[in-house]
Amino acid sequence: MSQDDCIFCKIVADEIPSRTVFEDDEVIAFLDANPLAEGHTLVIPKDHYETLDEVPEETAARVFGVLHKLNTVVQDAVDADGANVAFNDGEAAGQEVPHVHGHVIPRFDGDDGHPIHAVAGERPNLSDEELDKIAGAIHDNS
Ligand code: 5GP
Ligand code: ZN
Repeated sequence: MSQDDCIFCKIVADEIPSRTVFEDDEVIAFLDANPLAEGHTLVIPKDHYETLDEVPEETAARVFGVLHKLNTVVQDAVDADGANVAFNDGEAAGQEVPHVHGHVIPRFDGDDGHPIHAVAGERPNLSDEELDKIAGAIHDNS
């Protein structure tokens, strides 16, 4: 499955160049063209899915397996001290390219970056009842 106007589908099809660092039948990983840090790498399913909810569970597991492996390999390659591994899932979360991709962003002691806690807006002040309701709604559909 591919989409004609999708830049990441074009990378999968080798229609535009990328610095590919891993490829198998279902997943491909390449360096981010505008890296937030040395070694910033993207891992994507080869098939076109816009958001994570569209990705079949088996494919999601393959993508995570590659993220897991590359997280170590990428950090070693650039001598990083850690990494943020994350998906921007949907426009509200800042997703710019509408083809699911996981980021491995190497982090370095004292790099002046921020933790994943810094990505959301103001923290909500939730009552116990509200927390119970949210937990219940998630639990009932898991
Ligand atoms: P998003 O905000 O959608 O999670 O991140 C999209 C990422 O894709 C950005 O970090 C951006 O630098 C990267 N990107 C956008 N276009 C290209 C491209 O053509 N090639 C590569 N390698 N990365 C790209
Ligand atoms: Zn695509």
